[in-house]
Amino acid sequence: MPQIRSEILYNQAQQDEYYKIALTCSQAFEAAIPGQFVTLKIGDRMDPLLRRPFSIHRLLRKNGAVTGMEILYRVVGNFTGQLAEMKPSGAIDLLGPLGHGFSLPPENATPVLAAGGIGVAPLVFLAESLNAAGVRMNDAAVFLGGRSAADILCVDDFSRLEMKTRVVTEDGSAGHAGLVTAPLETYLAQHRPGIIYACGPHGMLRAVSALAARHGTPCEVSIETVMACGIGICMGCAVKTADHPEGYRHICKDGPVFEASRVFF
Ligand SMILES: Cc1cc2nc3c(=O)[nH]c(=O)nc-3n(C[C@H](O)[C@H](O)[C@H](O)COP(=O)(O)OP(=O)(O)OC[C@H]3O[C@@H](n4cnc5c(N)ncnc54)[C@H](O)[C@@H]3O)c2cc1C
Repeated sequence: MPQIRSEILYNQAQQDEYYKIALTCSQAFEAAIPGQFVTLKIGDRMDPLLRRPFSIHRLLRKNGAVTGMEILYRVVGNFTGQLAEMKPSGAIDLLGPLGHGFSLPPENATPVLAAGGIGVAPLVFLAESLNAAGVRMNDAAVFLGGRSAADILCVDDFSRLEMKTRVVTEDGSAGHAGLVTAPLETYLAQHRPGIIYACGPHGMLRAVSALAARHGTPCEVSIETVMACGIGICMGCAVKTADHPEGYRHICKDGPVFEASRVFF
């Protein structure tokens, strides 16, 4: 997998603790699939020692060719704090694309997307790719959940694709009050989508997976966990699954996207 010294094109504060950074990337990203991720390191810095994983949020193209990529990130600690301070033309060591991404829906199947907080990051790349693949996005719905209004991102990106967008916040400061799974459950009772794609906190993925099973809807989940090496060597990101002889798969190498019915949450 290609490792390059990437250049920062821009690094913009969004809302609250969220930022969007654009990085130059290699031609290998022409084949990148939504749900795949990269690992980053700032220049030659040794702190933190371990690279940090981030989903591909969107590919940037010029004359049809990929020239860069965007990452949407939330400042939560040491690395993301340093990243937020970085200026255009700064150097980032970028490794990727890594992991196993989302699959395309079966023909004529309507997709439903469900995001919890920063879990929305890979779903924008997914929605834009589905649109480019000819999926009728104005039939598709996206459920965006967060603790409060500040955690609701990318509404315009989905609206631009004419998707039905539902916002849900735990404190009721934007959209409906409650958990994202409540309106999703109502939707599933009234519609028959072909597939659910979800990314968010573990508890949300467990709930979405249970809903999908109850309604007999295929579902893929992208699991974001604390990850050390990112390339399947350290075995630090194991997840218990039904389809492996040892009972475990590794999120970095076999995921982060898994068929929900195969994962023991
Ligand atoms: C496949 C994958 C894709 C990801 N994509 C994105 C993305 O697109 N945007 C984004 O903002 N983040 C994403 N993450 C999470 C991101 O990797 C972490 O937020 C980042 O590594 C934190 O580094 P830090 O040094 O700033 O925080 P640290 O100082 O390492 O940790 C700060 C706090 O955050 C917690 N933490 C660290 N990583 C995670 C995690 N993955 N989930 C929950 N809590 C965590 C730590 O336990 C600690 O409490 C992704 C993770 C994975 C595995």
